[in-house]
Amino acid sequence: MFESLQDGLSSAFKTLRGQGKLSESNMRDGLKMVERSLLEADVSYEVVQTFMKNVTEVAVGEKVLKSLNPGQQVVGVVHEELIALMGPVDNSLHLRGKDEVSVLMMCGLQGSGKTTTCGKLGRMLKLAGRRPLLVAADLQRPAAIDQLHVLGEQLEIPVYSDRAQKDPVAVCNAAVQQAKKLGADVVILDTAGRLHIDDELMGQLTRIDKKCNPHQVLLVVDAMTGQDAVNSAKAFNEALELDGVVMTKLDGDARGGAALSVKQVTGVPIKFMGTGEHLDALEEFHADRMAGRILGQGDILSLVERAQREFDQDESAKLESDLAKGEFTFDSFKTAMRQMKRLGPMRKIMGMLPGMGKMLDVMGDADPEEDMRRLFGIIDSMTPDERKKPKLIDQSRRRRIAEGSGVEPSEVNELVKQFDAMAQMMTGMAGKNPRERMAMVRE
Ligand code: GDP
Repeated sequence: MFESLQDGLSSAFKTLRGQGKLSESNMRDGLKMVERSLLEADVSYEVVQTFMKNVTEVAVGEKVLKSLNPGQQVVGVVHEELIALMGPVDNSLHLRGKDEVSVLMMCGLQGSGKTTTCGKLGRMLKLAGRRPLLVAADLQRPAAIDQLHVLGEQLEIPVYSDRAQKDPVAVCNAAVQQAKKLGADVVILDTAGRLHIDDELMGQLTRIDKKCNPHQVLLVVDAMTGQDAVNSAKAFNEALELDGVVMTKLDGDARGGAALSVKQVTGVPIKFMGTGEHLDALEEFHADRMAGRILGQGDILSLVERAQREFDQDESAKLESDLAKGEFTFDSFKTAMRQMKRLGPMRKIMGMLPGMGKMLDVMGDADPEEDMRRLFGIIDSMTPDERKKPKLIDQSRRRRIAEGSGVEPSEVNELVKQFDAMAQMMTGMAGKNPRERMAMVRE
């Protein structure tokens, strides 16, 4: 996500920081580099012009130029401006109470990820204690109804469809009317998509909007389509008055031009973002956190929220209580690693940790998941006693474990050695909050 923009900005800042005191002309040269990175990231031309005007005004002002570290100050100015560019965002879906029925209308072009996002949103709402109902109102694409049913089954969320009904407005209306009877409190309408915007589609969506009075209308756009995504957001917003955008496929988008332009061009904020094909890959979009990610500062808050949502509560509680007693065994290690895996692929997690983005470059093709499988293999070849007391593992046990897990004895040795350091850190973390823990890891 945003890799090429991150690289461009970080080399601009490096040039600025490397110069100590800056003259106005040095500063302007550095800012030109910032401008170039934004344009290369496919941010809309007008957006870049306004952005640079605002940044330049502050950056060449006396307060920054005469400060002790003008290069560093510019990072702060760009950070603030990025937040202003993408925000403010109201992430709430403004759902009614659980005894009423709330309606979410999802629209977007074909292939944008609309149906997948309906599933992801349903999953998120279910985890938050809601009872969603997915409604198959995309009658354009015959496979769309089946696709939604498959998602519903996977997520154990009910799906409303009516294959005999040819009018999507009637399908949506019937679903909303029956929602209560079906035990649902949030109805998610998966409306029709098209390859291009046309009057027929807009007419259909406007009729659904009028008939069902959705509490929120969200547009799903594909980040990879760059400025086309921004233009389609503009057109949909003129017809429907969107409440927010869900920007999908940010995981594959190295440039970020659409994410940075859409709010300024359309006035509609990004409320959620899709960061992968899996159904758990949906996150709230926060302008300040995203600005931090773009500037390579990571996004601890989103990681912590993800952990609160995805971790197995019983496993976490047991681990915490063991740690509080100063107990950390290879079994606890496995539990901790299993929980980590729930957060998503290792590479994605590392991208959210401050300063770790660069580590990904260093890692090259290394596969952290494969490393973890090897570690689990080693631990599984230990006896329960060895897992509890790694000190028992002498040379002959080491050889036996290595044979059992198909690795070299030196790998077993390495793991046992690292384990002591890790045990110390983990028991030291017990009772600390996530921020304090992160500070320990970074020391
Ligand atoms: P629709 O035609 O708009 O309903 O699009 P679909 O929901 O069928 O999605 C089209 C393709 O995009 C599918 O292969 C999805 O798995 C994929 N997709 C959707 N959201 C994301 C995302 O956030 N990241 C990635 N990498 N793929 C996504």
